Amino acid sequence: MARTVSIFGSTGSIGCNTVNLIESAAEDYDVVALTGGRNIAKLARQARKLGADIAVTAHEECYGDLKEALSGSDIKVAAGQTAICEAAARPADWTMSAIVGSAGLPPGLETLKRGGTLALANKESLVTAGPLLMATAKASGARVLPVDSEHSAVFQALVGEDIGTVERIIITASGGAFRDWPAERLKTATLAEASSHPNWDMGQRITIDSASLFNKALELIETNEYFGVRPNQIEALIHPESLVHALVGFNDGALMAHLGPPDMRHAIGFALNWPVRKALPVERLDLAAVASLTFRAPDEARYPALRLAREVMEAGGLAGAVFNAAKETALDGFISGAIGFLEMAAVVEEVLAKRPRDGHMNAEITLDTILEADHMSRRHAMDIIKQRQA
Ligand code: NAD
Ligand code: MG
Repeated sequence: MARTVSIFGSTGSIGCNTVNLIESAAEDYDVVALTGGRNIAKLARQARKLGADIAVTAHEECYGDLKEALSGSDIKVAAGQTAICEAAARPADWTMSAIVGSAGLPPGLETLKRGGTLALANKESLVTAGPLLMATAKASGARVLPVDSEHSAVFQALVGEDIGTVERIIITASGGAFRDWPAERLKTATLAEASSHPNWDMGQRITIDSASLFNKALELIETNEYFGVRPNQIEALIHPESLVHALVGFNDGALMAHLGPPDMRHAIGFALNWPVRKALPVERLDLAAVASLTFRAPDEARYPALRLAREVMEAGGLAGAVFNAAKETALDGFISGAIGFLEMAAVVEEVLAKRPRDGHMNAEITLDTILEADHMSRRHAMDIIKQRQA
């Protein structure tokens, strides 16, 4: 029987790779919902091709365009964030969460409330609200599967293992666009320079986060949320070739590594077919041709994001929500030209240092307290950016 699937953020980099895999085995899947942003032509094309039940744009003002682009089909059309959450509440066996940023959290939570499998590419929702997502999944019996390449790698290395025997988890980082730049040049890095990745083809925001190592910072926290090991058991390691995605170290000294080409269709396909492994159209590694793999420790002075991630993991509670929102706002500031590349970390550090540590900010972690922390952090980061511009 065909599996019912929905894709949130289907028009993005992860979304298109997911559509590509589903298209290549179309008879196995029944598509329920697809959602996107302003690229209405792409969303409509995907919805027609996959025969979706409903297509949703995040922008209410795009409703008319989407309606027109899907005229003559029986595909339902909707627009706005509430409509995205309503689409997430529609039953589906498997749901891809590939919206970028904490905007992915409300539909992710809706999906987990109704059960099924949530393939989670949207790491920001896990960093912002990990305990809430996991508790929601537990209550409904839903399953969360990692789609980030490093976390899919760890998940695969842990099959059949007892988590109690894990000593450490090492996630690799390409080092991003500036890995070979002298530190003093980073100050003047431009948007165009930060937006090109040496190994991976990804959306612009995660590409810039790779250059600043904020992506790796999010992923350290993500590791903590998924696998429940202590923060001091999680390490980041620079590996410029991006062929080893993660390593798990066990109590007998064994280190299990996961290797593969830098192609997100592996992690997406693994989650799509889980618990079965199916053939995937990704390149096979020729290690003799690769010849050597190199590794080095990240320079934490150069990349404050990693140190900040450790502080966030130690603090727990709403610190992840504050961190992610400040990071997203600082990234907006860099993209708009309001602040420089290195100022992103400075802004996040200042927001974290001044975050309220008592009263309601330490309250129970609910969607409301998380969204409140997220909004406060964004406002605070925007104030700091304005002060820096003045
Ligand atoms: P992208 O920018 O290419 O695509 C984002 C998608 O989200 C698009 O469909 C866009 O229309 C939609 N979207 C953006 N803002 C939205 C909003 N406010 N409300 C609703 N929809 C919105 O991003 P991407 O690179 O595909 O990344 C998606 C997620 O996957 C991110 O969380 C990212 O960190 C994660 N991820 C990506 C990669 C990768 O290779 N691209 C790898 C690992 C993890
Ligand atoms: Mg990753």
